[in-house]
Amino acid sequence: KTQGRSRLVIFDQTMRDKAVKRARMTADLVAGLDRGELEVHFQPKIRLSDGSISSVEALVRWRHPELGLLTPGEFLEIAAESGLLPKLGQEVVRQSAECLKTWKKIGLPLVVAINICPGQFANEKFADSFILFCLSQEISPADFEIELTETVAMANFVKVRRQLERLKAAGFGIAIDDYGIGYSNLSQLYHLPFDHLKIDKSIIDSIGNDPNAEVLISSVIDVAHRLGHFVTAEGVETERQLDVLRRLGCDSVQGYLTGRPVPAAEISRLLEAQMASRAQHSMSLERQA
Ligand code: C2E
Ligand code: MG
Ligand code: MG
Ligand code: MG
Repeated sequence: KTQGRSRLVIFDQTMRDKAVKRARMTADLVAGLDRGELEVHFQPKIRLSDGSISSVEALVRWRHPELGLLTPGEFLEIAAESGLLPKLGQEVVRQSAECLKTWKKIGLPLVVAINICPGQFANEKFADSFILFCLSQEISPADFEIELTETVAMANFVKVRRQLERLKAAGFGIAIDDYGIGYSNLSQLYHLPFDHLKIDKSIIDSIGNDPNAEVLISSVIDVAHRLGHFVTAEGVETERQLDVLRRLGCDSVQGYLTGRPVPAAEISRLLEAQMASRAQHSMSLERQA
């Protein structure tokens, strides 16, 4: 009994420590949002037809004063639980818009994909406020793409569809993220107005390990293409995966092999290099002519 009790005390202590840590992180995040500690990194998606950057995905990071650079897995849940998601989301869009303007000046058209989670879609005004924001910033909605997972889409189908239709009508691109792990009803998913399907990393990882992987991926790409969707493979890490995806007709890849998430300045550098090599290419074509 005594032992049992002391164990209970230890358990209690662990729970209390956790709660204290969480409360501190929440307070830090509230302050961090105001102090500008959130920064957006961007990961390129590479078009397989010509190797160019087709778009970049905005991935939020938190430069915590003591803990260093944190990834979403370490703070998104806290943000969601404490009602900070709308503010965090706005900050990501605001920074992305600034970057879009910079990249426009470099001269390459680039789409920025923004991740939206359930807490944000729950707000009925989400679509309208994003559209208004674009108007106020003189940014075309077509410069943005909304990424949502099939789980988000299916959980609140009618409401989500209504917002997606409004976004789509305004010109936003729409992508289904992490496709293949949500066990969704395909026929229902396909009633959503999306134009881009992103195959989840877990499926890409099975290339070379699971004999059925290629058949599965090939049929997903085939169906998506027949319906007019663009297909991206997520989490591509090896040349072998890249070769298979190329052979299966995948449109673009996103992964550590072709580019990790990096600060905006690094994307600018990549774009400038791409512009320079294009210019060189067209100059050598002119010389040949
Ligand atoms: P996601 O949208 O599926 O983003 C892809 C995640 O996979 C990113 O993790 C990216 O860094 C990682 N990744 C990309 N290529 C590779 C690879 O080759 N290997 C491996 N091992 N990982 C790869 P990250 O940045 O930690 O983000 C995790 C998730 O957090 C995202 O998954 C997204 O659902 C969410 N998230 C990120 N930024 C935001 C945001 O601004 N707002 C919201 N609501 N959610 C966000
Ligand atoms: Mg995503
Ligand atoms: Mg994803
Ligand atoms: Mg994911």
